[in-house]
Amino acid sequence: MLSNSRVAYREHNHLRCQNAAMQRARSLCEQHKVRLTPIRENVLRLLWQSHRPLGAYEIIEQLSDAGEKSVKPPTVYRAIDFLLEQGLAHRLATLNAYIGCPFPGNPHRFAVFVCQACGSAAESSFEAIDNAIGAAAARADFEVHGQAVEVTGLCPQCRGKADD
Ligand SMILES: [Zn+2]
Ligand SMILES: [Zn+2]
Ligand SMILES: [Zn+2]
Repeated sequence: MLSNSRVAYREHNHLRCQNAAMQRARSLCEQHKVRLTPIRENVLRLLWQSHRPLGAYEIIEQLSDAGEKSVKPPTVYRAIDFLLEQGLAHRLATLNAYIGCPFPGNPHRFAVFVCQACGSAAESSFEAIDNAIGAAAARADFEVHGQAVEVTGLCPQCRGKADD
């Protein structure tokens, strides 16, 4: 089981979290012999600035705010596509937003828990979910090409606040 929910939802040294993610991305790209160009790296860093998924427009806006004047939406979309292809990020279909993957280089299907209060998302990968979907698909004689499991609710921190 792969899960980062314990980290994503608790107070932690996020800078370390972000740096580790960037380090993983660099070595993965080296392994795959693909280039982590500055724009690709910047987009990934933005995705890792917190555990809250970002939409493409937010990414474009934030890059422009950061002084990257020449940043054009198609360039950003291409960078996002690259990150998705390399498994460095995932697209959350229901939110139409993106998150950095904490387990790149580790082929997996994922389930994401999204907090409705703070917007943070934690990725987990449970074989049991995959098996259940696979079994249901087999029964329906359906060939699965993609699978997105997104669960909304309240994270432990936000739930704690509500109890006060
Ligand atoms: Zn973090
Ligand atoms: Zn992932
Ligand atoms: Zn929350």
